[in-house]
Amino acid sequence: MKITVLKNILDANLQTAERNQRLLESHGILAINIMASPGAGKTSLILKTIEGLGKEVAIGVIEGDIASTVDADRISQAGVPVVQINTGGGCHLDANMVANALDTMDLKKMDLLFIENVGNLVCPAGFKLGEQKRVVLASIPEGDDKPHKYPSMFSQTEAIVINKTDLLPYLEFDMKDFKSTVNSLNHGVRLFEVSAKTGHGFDAWLSWLKEEIKLLRK
Ligand code: MG
Ligand code: ZN
Repeated sequence: MKITVLKNILDANLQTAERNQRLLESHGILAINIMASPGAGKTSLILKTIEGLGKEVAIGVIEGDIASTVDADRISQAGVPVVQINTGGGCHLDANMVANALDTMDLKKMDLLFIENVGNLVCPAGFKLGEQKRVVLASIPEGDDKPHKYPSMFSQTEAIVINKTDLLPYLEFDMKDFKSTVNSLNHGVRLFEVSAKTGHGFDAWLSWLKEEIKLLRK
């Protein structure tokens, strides 16, 4: 019985996600679902991306959080349209929440939409939102074992960004092991090594985003 209920929820979510995706595609918007554990630097990655790309690409942001508008306030200060979704305790975003957020946004003036998911490496993987691409963010202080512990998150993503590389000299993080694990889970996945603090590695990340926007509009 339980299994049936869960399946219905996921089916309904998938239908709404597909509707969101068609809506975004019809406006030529590249939507990226950013998933990570709390504190990996999702908001910082978005802010640094706005800094590097904001002049040539119109960016919008949906901020998912259990509570508060702290992150949305930071994005708003960067001069980018942002909608906050508070899940009221819920540990992931779903497609319906995103549909409601999209209703309030001016999609005609947007090239790139970041959907910052709730900080959690488990259930966000099971809920499509209507994104074109998934990006999982990992960070050096979390350790190199995250792909071993949360394989479904790392196997269902188009790109992995490893953040806080400025801390590599101070912490134990086996980059070789991390890369070989994610490659065995998700062969050929795009990998970016960045520091949202120093800007290290951002050229490749920004080029990828621009390329994906171009491909979407072909
Ligand atoms: Mg955040
Ligand atoms: Zn959840």
